[in-house]
Amino acid sequence: MNVSGFEPLRYPFIRLNFLHQPKGNPYLHSEDETYEKQRLQSAKLTTFASMKRKTIAFQTFGCKLNFAETSAIARKFTESDYNLVDFKEQADHYVIHSCTVTDHAEKKTRAAIRQALRKNPEASVAVIGCYSQLRPEEIKNIKGVDIVLGNNEKYSLFDHIENQKTDRTEKDIKTGKPQVYEPGFSMGDRTRSFFKVQDGCDYFCTFCAIPYARGRSRSASIASTLEVAGQIAATEVKEVVLTGVNIGDFGKQNGESFYDLLLELEKLQGIERIRISSVEPELLNDDIIRLVAGSKKFMPHFHIPLQSGTDRILALMKRKYKREVFEQRVKTIKELMPHACIAADVITGFPGETDEDFLQTVDFISSLPISYLHVFTYSKRPGTMAATMEMQIQSHIKQKRSRILHKLSDEKKGKFYLENKGLICDVLWESDIEDGFISGFSSNYIRCKKPYNVNSINQIEKVVFIEPDQDGIFIIKPYDE
Ligand code: SF4
Repeated sequence: MNVSGFEPLRYPFIRLNFLHQPKGNPYLHSEDETYEKQRLQSAKLTTFASMKRKTIAFQTFGCKLNFAETSAIARKFTESDYNLVDFKEQADHYVIHSCTVTDHAEKKTRAAIRQALRKNPEASVAVIGCYSQLRPEEIKNIKGVDIVLGNNEKYSLFDHIENQKTDRTEKDIKTGKPQVYEPGFSMGDRTRSFFKVQDGCDYFCTFCAIPYARGRSRSASIASTLEVAGQIAATEVKEVVLTGVNIGDFGKQNGESFYDLLLELEKLQGIERIRISSVEPELLNDDIIRLVAGSKKFMPHFHIPLQSGTDRILALMKRKYKREVFEQRVKTIKELMPHACIAADVITGFPGETDEDFLQTVDFISSLPISYLHVFTYSKRPGTMAATMEMQIQSHIKQKRSRILHKLSDEKKGKFYLENKGLICDVLWESDIEDGFISGFSSNYIRCKKPYNVNSINQIEKVVFIEPDQDGIFIIKPYDE
């Protein structure tokens, strides 16, 4: 459904429990590991359960965008006569929202199909999303798959499942050109929602299949986006994460800009915290950084895709910036917000990356106040320019470089944590309980914990950072004014 046809969501009857975690995704500017700890779909209806007849289970792979979209798709079922169940449970229908960003992501889709059929050999299985979009025939030929829908068609999954023939002899395959824009947001445990504000990408970086899988960059108008934001604001959610493929590109086709959207969101009542997921370095301009620096609502937490620390490799990747632009962004952020968290994506093993290029990347990252890295090992994606490049890097070299970058990331994180020791910060407590502790994130995205207290759930508390524990979670004490 496109934006003009968007209907207000009716979720008061729905409680979504996200049980799995979005995985890092370099090409979608994947968020942090901790966000990645943020569960997936497998939602449960808490009311009218007895009136429901059919059961459906969702499994989502890939980026936060997929997760936000799964929630929107799942709502159509819960508003009808379906019960949402965990993917590990027996269901009448299984839906796999796929990702194609790496080989590994595709393997996970195939494993999920097998898992579903083991649980219920009679179930119908639908595969939707990026993998379906790019290689529908490959999925169609997997035994037990009944429906394959691309990124345009996935929003009509409900109709496809409802209209399924009982004998299911014919497979239902639909993959048109991805061009609709469908808004969406996830509802987790009251605390945080991933809010889709943009889709697609016009950049065609040479390693990335996303523009082929998700189509050109598009978004709704600011007015329509604010309407959906208002629906999130009407819930108990305290924190919203703005999500998209290339969110800095928001509004391009409407003569609007991402900065204009942020200005409006800043005024929105009912959402206390907003995080901006990754923004391309050249789009993360000083206006945006200054807005965040002067805002109580936008969190001092940035995610900037670097991908390589050499201009030579950046050019081969067809990235739109030189490393100095990235450096400048990091420095401006730290000048205005010394304790801001800055995460950076880096890909290692891109074709032609020499030892010298790699060492330059390591030196460049070492020289900057980056808080931690998302490290991705280059994976050849069919249909992309980089897949046909000569000088593909051998696997063992990629693995070795990846280990070095992970170690560098750990060092960076340790340093960032030390810089925060003794500081005062706001933490939003979440609902999970582990070993008698409750955990949450500080405004600058440090995971904290304290002894469990049910009254703290979904509350923002001013705390003092004491010390990280052995798992890297900061122990805090309440701030005593
Ligand atoms: S083409 Fe480049 S900018 Fe666009 S999604 Fe892929 S990596 Fe990001």
